[in-house]
Order: sequence, then structure tokens, then C-alpha cells
Amino acid sequence: RAKAEGRGNFKYFSEDLTQAALRRLNLESLLRRALRHQELLVYYQPQVDISTGRIIGAEALLRWHHAQEGMIPPSQFIPVAEEIGLIADIGEWVLTQVCRQGRCWLDAGLPPIKLAVNLSPHQLRHGDIAASIDAILSQTGFPPEFLELELTESALMERETEVVLVLCQLRALGVRIAIDDFGTGYSSLAYLKHFPLDVLKIDKTFIDDIPQLEDDKEIASAIIGMGHTLRLQVLAEGVETQEQLDFLQEHGCDFYQGYLKSPALPASDFAALLRSQF
Ligand code: C2E
Ligand code: MG
Ligand code: MG
Ligand code: MG
Repeated sequence: RAKAEGRGNFKYFSEDLTQAALRRLNLESLLRRALRHQELLVYYQPQVDISTGRIIGAEALLRWHHAQEGMIPPSQFIPVAEEIGLIADIGEWVLTQVCRQGRCWLDAGLPPIKLAVNLSPHQLRHGDIAASIDAILSQTGFPPEFLELELTESALMERETEVVLVLCQLRALGVRIAIDDFGTGYSSLAYLKHFPLDVLKIDKTFIDDIPQLEDDKEIASAIIGMGHTLRLQVLAEGVETQEQLDFLQEHGCDFYQGYLKSPALPASDFAALLRSQF
């Protein structure tokens, strides 16, 4: 914005604002370049079936490897990409990468697993996400039933009727829908029944203090129970200890993701891990 208003206007900014504006402009051009120059990478974190201990899927997590800064975490650049309107391009790139990778793994004879991709709320609101996913699926030949889209609770709560419509279009393509970071927003489980969903992901903050915190144990087991009542599969995020896993198993949680199994890995390392379980 500062750029469009011309250089003369910089004198009206305080020093801090000027710095912030410059940093933003800098980050914006860096991100555009990163997308063009393949500094963005997709990592894969295993999702494990709690009853069998087997990897049944992976969540695709974006990484930015910057030549000077090293790895920049998504929490730092996704919000910027959203603000500057670059998230649609980045999101489309991630979806294409993941579907291509998934097709490669199937062709290489790896066991079929689901691949989960995070969608930003912006991608639901703007453009025709169902049409673009449909196009990506047919370009790459990745089977829709192995693609899962993760949306946060807050993405559902904005403009509910439109979101239900978009989710129905996505479901009609054959893809699955997961609610990410569940429990951190303000929606109730009852509210969720208005949406066509497949998976509920319990936020890491409710898992962290299991088994020490009674409250969190009760919240987690309530989410598992009610998720099942709504005929959803339930996945626990951020599982780091065997005690947490034992608790989740006892309470019938379906899947987990977390450092206990593995952090997100480069595609080739993930493939090696997947291969090693057979
Ligand atoms: P998320 O979708 O909730 O992803 C889970 C985050 O938890 C990931 O962080 C993952 O690395 C981290 N995590 C998983 N297991 C553990 C654990 O046991 N302990 C700890 N401490 N952390 C664990 P990451 O990769 O930094 O991603 C952060 C967020 O950035 C994601 O949260 C998601 O909201 C967003 N994000 C990542 N990739 C994309 C993308 O391609 N598109 C969009 N729109 N957002 C993305
Ligand atoms: Mg996620
Ligand atoms: Mg999450
Ligand atoms: Mg999160």
C-alpha cells in the first residue's frame, strides 16, 4: 500500500510504521520469489491408526527454505500470504504438489494413504475452490477419496450458508473434509452437525497436559465421544508421549499425529518410513 501512495508519503509514517511497511513489502516480494524459485517445500507428517499402529495418512505442511534465513515456519509467512492475497496461489501450488506426489507414490507401489491439505479460509471465500480442486485432481490423476481438506472452526463460522454450499460441492467431488484445531474456536459439537464433515482433529492444546490435567482428559474424551456420536472419525494432534497415546487408545480415539511417531518429513523420508512398515 505504501508503494501505491508514492514515496513522498513515507514521511508521514512514524519510523516504526515505515520499518513495518518496508518489511512487509520485502516479505511480499520474497514470498512471490519463493513460489517462483521453488523455495517452498511440502513436508509430510504421518497420521497413525491408533488400533493398529500403522500409518494411514499424512498431513502436508508447508515449509519455506530461505537461502539466508534458513527454514521459516508457516506461522510466520501464512498470515502474510493471506494478507497480501498470495494464499490462493500458494494454496493451489500446495494442492497440485500433494496430488502429484500422491499419484507418484501410488505408481511406485506404495500403499494407498490419505493426504491431508490445509485450506485457508480465504480459499473458501474467493474463487471457485471446488472447480480448481476438480481440475487439479484430473490433471494429476490422484483419486479424490484419498484427498482430505482441513479447515479450521473459524473458517466454518464465517458465512455459514455459503460455506455449507462449498463443502457440499467438495464432498460431491469425493474428497473428505476435516475440522482442524477443534476446541480452540467457539463452535459447539452440535453446531458441527450442520456441515458435511468426515474427521475431527482435537487441538494439541487439549492433548499437551494429558495425563496430568483432569479437565483436559475430560475435554478430550468428551470430544472423542461426541465426535463419534456425530459419526465423525477423531484424530488427536500433537501427541508426544506414550502416556497420551495410551489415554487416547483407552478412550477410543481413531488416529493420532505427533512427534511420538514423527515430525513432518521431506517427501522422500516420509516415503521411506511408509515403505518400512511393510
Ligand atoms: P496445523 O494444520 O494445525 O498443523 C499442525 C502443526 O502442529 C504443524 O506445525 C506440525 O508440525 C505441528 N505438530 C505436529 N505434531 C506436533 C507435536 O507432537 N508437537 C509439536 N510441538 N508440534 C507438532 P507447522 O508445520 O508449523 O504448521 C503450523 C500451521 O501452519 C498449521 O497448523 C496450519 O494451520 C498452517 N499451515 C501449514 N501448512 C499450510 C498450508 O499448506 N496451507 C495453509 N493454509 N496453512 C498451512
Ligand atoms: Mg492442519
Ligand atoms: Mg491443527
Ligand atoms: Mg494449527
